[in-house]
Amino acid sequence: MQYHIQTEPIWEAFQSDCDCPMCRIYEKSETRLVEQYLNEAVMEPDYRVEVNKYGFCKEHLRKLFAGKNKLGLALQLHTRTLQVRSQIKPCSNYKQALKQAVELAETLDSCVICRSVDEMMKRYAYTVAQMYALEEDFKHAFQKCNGFCMPHYTLLLRESNKAGGKTAAYVTELVYVQNRSLDRVCNDLDRFAQMFDYRNAGSAVRPDPETVPSAIRKLKGRIL
Ligand SMILES: [Zn+2]
Ligand SMILES: [Zn+2]
Repeated sequence: MQYHIQTEPIWEAFQSDCDCPMCRIYEKSETRLVEQYLNEAVMEPDYRVEVNKYGFCKEHLRKLFAGKNKLGLALQLHTRTLQVRSQIKPCSNYKQALKQAVELAETLDSCVICRSVDEMMKRYAYTVAQMYALEEDFKHAFQKCNGFCMPHYTLLLRESNKAGGKTAAYVTELVYVQNRSLDRVCNDLDRFAQMFDYRNAGSAVRPDPETVPSAIRKLKGRIL
């Protein structure tokens, strides 16, 4: 069995103490892609064809705009806008207007960076399953991790058959690790809420400010 991608980023993420190791890998992959679309991709015809076709989502436009290459971004936005412009056909009745609205809605939030990073994450999820099956040390790191955000947990479930003959053991462990992490989040939220109870007024223990953001990240991924 061959590994599809390097295992180092996976090792690094699973050894870090974070809410979701897959989110950590996502962030690194995403940062590299944003850099790419501000540098070498600007003058690369193949990349430009993809940018013209899919554009960038709001989140990635924000990140590209925060980067250093405004000219590179302007060039890509120019040809993307021409592409969007070409999709606007003359309308003279409501049926045509609605058809155009439906067609445009499908393309408005498509994103070339999301497409690439989603594909990468799928391969990483694949490799996590393989590593669990093949590397005893990784199996221990996996057992010790803090679980995953729900979107990445779902992705790992989808790719769990890549553990081959160890799929049953892998899925059992994945469910266990995730439930343990959700139990921890529930306990933390409960403790946080109790801090606001009048019976705890004057207590020296303060609510942990990380409790709510951590619960949000567990449910939705890294949005904070
Ligand atoms: Zn995640
Ligand atoms: Zn995006």
